[in-house]
Amino acid sequence: MSGSESSAQLDELATGCRILGATGMGDMVWGHLSARDSEDATSFWMKSAGYGMEEMTPDLLVKVGPEGTKTAGAGRLHLEHFIHGGVYAARSDVGAVVHSHAESAVAFAATGMALRPIGHEGTLFSPPDIARFTSTGDLIRTRELGEQLAASLGDRNAILLHRHGLVTVGKDIRTAVLTAVFLDKACRLQLQAAAAGTPLSWSDEDEALAKRGRCYSDKQLDDAWGYLLRGLDPVRT
Ligand SMILES: [Zn+2]
Repeated sequence: MSGSESSAQLDELATGCRILGATGMGDMVWGHLSARDSEDATSFWMKSAGYGMEEMTPDLLVKVGPEGTKTAGAGRLHLEHFIHGGVYAARSDVGAVVHSHAESAVAFAATGMALRPIGHEGTLFSPPDIARFTSTGDLIRTRELGEQLAASLGDRNAILLHRHGLVTVGKDIRTAVLTAVFLDKACRLQLQAAAAGTPLSWSDEDEALAKRGRCYSDKQLDDAWGYLLRGLDPVRT
């Protein structure tokens, strides 16, 4: 891995944070995106504390080592870095992790409803129903809580943290970020439909699984990512 490739990863990570900010995934200075280090699989880079998603630049990123401590970067480490460390330790297939306090995800989790594939987005998460972490709504502030969250995630692409937010994962930054955006929309759609007070309809298992592959192929995700990149505002400095 050359230095330029490593630098490109940090550029993409900062860009991913800005896309999360542009798509409503931010919560003032809270929530974060990380990527497994391209040169050292036991470490990862993530957004620093004290800044919004939309403010992130490569020089503000911080590196976290296998001991769960900051090993590089000038910024402050988010308290909830244990979310990321827990997932990377448990899932060798995961290259990037999003944690967001996305409003629709928090509201939807509070209803206790099963997530249904009532539009395209829901097919990424159901069937079966999305994974849940319910043992605490408090911050994931210890290694043990990070491990418990990763165990609840299992081999899934996303999990709702009841009374808190969401976590999504992907093989790369693009996939993890887009999965978060799609999950929040899936939650929002169902909240809107349920608010009408009439029985809901949704894709059966065959249709949902077919749509999962067709609507969210690598090519489709490439196109969606390109669209979001073109819409990014310049970083305010
Ligand atoms: Zn949080």
